[in-house]
Amino acid sequence: MTGTVISRITQFFTVRVDERDILCRPRARLLKEKVQILVGDRVQVSDLDPVQGTATIAELEPRRNALPRPAIANVDQVVLVFAAREPLFDPGMLDRFLVLVSRHGLSPVLVCNKTDLEDPVVLAAHLAPYRALGIPLETVSASTGRLAGLPALLSGRISVFAGPSGVGKSSLLNALSPGLSLKAARVSERLERGRHTTTHASLHEIVLPEGLAMVADTPGYTHLSFDDLLPRELGAHFPEMVPHLGGCRFPDCLHRSEPDCAVRQGSALAPSRQSSYERFIGELLEAEERRSSQSIREESAVKHRAGRGGKAVRLVKLDAAVREDSRRVARQRLASMAIHDESDEAPDQVIE
Ligand code: GDP
Ligand code: ZN
Repeated sequence: MTGTVISRITQFFTVRVDERDILCRPRARLLKEKVQILVGDRVQVSDLDPVQGTATIAELEPRRNALPRPAIANVDQVVLVFAAREPLFDPGMLDRFLVLVSRHGLSPVLVCNKTDLEDPVVLAAHLAPYRALGIPLETVSASTGRLAGLPALLSGRISVFAGPSGVGKSSLLNALSPGLSLKAARVSERLERGRHTTTHASLHEIVLPEGLAMVADTPGYTHLSFDDLLPRELGAHFPEMVPHLGGCRFPDCLHRSEPDCAVRQGSALAPSRQSSYERFIGELLEAEERRSSQSIREESAVKHRAGRGGKAVRLVKLDAAVREDSRRVARQRLASMAIHDESDEAPDQVIE
């Protein structure tokens, strides 16, 4: 039997097999080899005890992708929820998210919620650049229950919802399936019994007229960072630019003010997308600068150590300076994230 892991508590996994939830432990070999099994993984299940509803995970099938925080495998799409109003429509946040998702090779779906709060003409103008990109985009309202094509987009897929706090992610999940959270709570109560456990994301199954959808209960992703992207790689994550890449006079063109830039001439970026591009290029150039100044510092610390091996105190100080610097970079990276930050407060989702 093959099923999908939908939740995990310590080494107990709930596996959904043919509309049935089976509580499973991995077989000894998987434990011994420290095979990591994630929510979303497809697994083979054996030794079913029909009375207890328990079984053994015999084998882990190859996964298509895996994301940290929440740790989920085989994600089909990231659903970015944003609000037409309250919080204010923020194209910069959307553009950043789209780069992040593209950078991780995932497919985005855009969901504009709270459409009941905005004038349709104003909203249409906000959304025009995104409609032009050809990304699936649904305009919905959790309050009025207008879900448009969202159920159809979710059915048959594993989705992770993302987006800033307050845009209506929980309200939407609830509108899709009232009482959604109760099901996961039941399983954890039975297993937790008051002892300390690490929390993991769970997948909720939502039965829709359009089909079965699987949605992660934990919105993501704080760890999708594009700091490590090289400035000249950014264009590949702006779909408008892609057809024109490679046509510029300079191979390292950043498509800003360079002469004979095919990308600037050919791709009609909406003004807001253009300013996002320029802002991100600025950030990536800074990140690159930080990386190179840090590696120079690390190098000089190493030289120092080689030259005067005896002076331990001085060495410690230098090392500490380097470490402090990388902590600062890490903090800045976190601060620059515009994507949802709630999961940062959750306990670390460490997979042993
Ligand atoms: P989350 O933080 O993204 O999960 O957002 P919530 O689902 O908690 O919603 C935040 C607030 O927005 C709540 O007060 C909701 O009642 C409200 N809200 C959610 N969806 C809508 C909507 O479609 N229209 C309106 N007017 N308010 C909404
Ligand atoms: Zn160019």
